Amino acid sequence: MVKIARVLITGASRGIGAATALAFAEAGYSVVINYNKSEERAKALRDKIESVYKTSCILAQADVSDPDSVREMFSQIGEVDVLVNNAGCSTQRLFTDITDEEWNRTISTDLGGVFYCSRAALPAMIRKKSGVIINISSMWGEVGASCEVHYSAAKAGVIGLTKALAKEVAPSDIRVNCIAPGVIMTDMMQSFDSETLSALTEETPLGRLGTPEDIASAAVFLASDKASFITGQVLGVNGGFVI
Ligand code: NAP
Repeated sequence: MVKIARVLITGASRGIGAATALAFAEAGYSVVINYNKSEERAKALRDKIESVYKTSCILAQADVSDPDSVREMFSQIGEVDVLVNNAGCSTQRLFTDITDEEWNRTISTDLGGVFYCSRAALPAMIRKKSGVIINISSMWGEVGASCEVHYSAAKAGVIGLTKALAKEVAPSDIRVNCIAPGVIMTDMMQSFDSETLSALTEETPLGRLGTPEDIASAAVFLASDKASFITGQVLGVNGGFVI
């Protein structure tokens, strides 16, 4: 019997995470949807996955910024073959206006969450000598964004974590890669006015903003055997914004 691979996607109730859950379901994976606050949206996504793709899908509530919450989630869900560390938050603020609370929330969610979830998923992967971790960083982690220093710092940290961890676990045949999205139309972009969005579109060589599906298909590729010689890399999915 062919074993069905199991993927956990953090922050999968909305946006890029939700599209990624759908894409993995379409590719035949059994899906675990992590959410924090958006329970109704997570339930609706699970129902869609079960009815459209007829694959197993379960929900796992956890705040990825909280190590105890992540431990509790993994004790409930058990082993996964693929982990997509997608959960994240961002705010726009002048550097001198960033509060301690905002700094700590951004670092503990966008970077800490990657650490806590990877640490929880890896022992089983190391035992099985197989597994894939995909971290969702940002092009701002590569080049820095004005008024998003806290976010850029967290996302740059994700890139460093990806490269170092890839080296450490490669002998166990575990691959760790990173996707650095450009501007993707999700709730995260809601605070941007239409003028800013037009300027960002103009700055994108391919002449459009990204969709959650653009990131989802890259994640499914990186998890697949077609990417079996790719580890420690940062895949820019940004329409050419950063080259
Ligand atoms: P989004 O639409 O705002 O969705 C964020 C998701 O993260 C939600 O499912 C939310 O869950 C979850 N989340 C937030 N804090 C969490 C926590 N503490 N614990 C667990 N889940 C948490 O954002 P998005 O645009 O899809 O972004 C997804 C990822 O892509 C993020 O890491 C983001 O930084 C990155 N990214 C986005 C863009 C972009 O332009 N949109 C660009 C580059 C990188 P609940 O609603 O259930 O709380």
